[in-house]
Amino acid sequence: MANEKAHPAIEALISKYREVVEGSPLEYTADWKAKHPGVKLVGCYPLYTPVEIIHAGGMLPVAVIGGGNRLEIAHADSRFQSFVCSIVKSTLELGLTGQLKILDGIVFHSICDPARNLASVFTRNFPDLMVEYIHFPQNLTSRHAVSYLAAEYRRVKASYEKLVGRPIDNEALCQSIRVYNEQRGLLRDLYRLRSQSPQNLSTVETYILTRIGTFLPPEEHIAILKEAIAAASRRDERLKDRIKVVLEGSFCEQPPLELIEGLEAAGCYILDDDFLLGWRWFSQDVAVEGDPIQNLARAYLDRSVYSGVKHDTREPKAKHLVDKVRETGASAVVILAAKFCEPALFDYALYRRALEAEGIPHLYLEFEEKMWIFDKARTEVETFVESMLFD
Ligand code: SF4
Repeated sequence: MANEKAHPAIEALISKYREVVEGSPLEYTADWKAKHPGVKLVGCYPLYTPVEIIHAGGMLPVAVIGGGNRLEIAHADSRFQSFVCSIVKSTLELGLTGQLKILDGIVFHSICDPARNLASVFTRNFPDLMVEYIHFPQNLTSRHAVSYLAAEYRRVKASYEKLVGRPIDNEALCQSIRVYNEQRGLLRDLYRLRSQSPQNLSTVETYILTRIGTFLPPEEHIAILKEAIAAASRRDERLKDRIKVVLEGSFCEQPPLELIEGLEAAGCYILDDDFLLGWRWFSQDVAVEGDPIQNLARAYLDRSVYSGVKHDTREPKAKHLVDKVRETGASAVVILAAKFCEPALFDYALYRRALEAEGIPHLYLEFEEKMWIFDKARTEVETFVESMLFD
């Protein structure tokens, strides 16, 4: 009876937001802005942005994660080489077709060459938009890394103060850190729930519940997550005959929902993944005592997750992946990388060697935003699953 009651709550939530996630989160955001005139919106390119600084200024940080598979690329193709990932082109297409006009600012980061170039292309093509660019430290072992990043965040903060027309004080920053700590803590709970009982919370559901937090105010997202976690905790589904995997490689550009769904339907329980990683960046809360900017900078170095675009020589990334497999109890890895994503491809060489050395089977798949046909990927996954189940 409790089970029957629990399902409609979470299913209603998922179906309410699935359409938004699959369609256009930017349209949803435009409606939101119309209802909240005066609130400025700042677009955040994946991966990590210190959203607390934007939020503390009374603005809404909104993810700009490409155009999905419903956006026709008509103008941006001519501005980039053909061997560039989809998200770079679709983000520019969104700008060139006026779909980013709702934004008052946008922020890019030093994650890779295409993202660096995109920031310059935006600066030149959209003079009315405040384009910020964060240079993350490349040498995390340097004793100057924290103070360097704190200085970078202070520079960005000064830009946002100009945008919003008032100072952003430490009290507001600490409060924003508290809010985002709560949001990220709930996301960690959601992921833990899915990892421990994947039959009770699918990856598509986890994805949608995470994705909506990239365009809703965090306070609203926190309320939704609490409701969803409570509803999912009451589920009691039967475990199916599937293999348990960790998914890696989709940290920036995001695969179509149908592809994620196809992986599950082909026989995988995904116990962990790196989708929307920038919004789940910290493995522990950011400290709230002391200087908030310094705390955010220190957390980037010492409390953040590993990623293909964070160059941390203190611990090999491949070790993190192997640890994740062991800790979750997965028996295999699916590498799902965006086509032409160099950071993901470079990582794959390291991951492959480590996984083979540890005897952990893996499957490598590539995706593009504009994918519509998933049969090939599904067949590959089914063959991989069968080879493991019936070995
Ligand atoms: S998908 Fe990869 S190559 Fe493309 S912008 Fe993101 S990190 Fe850079």
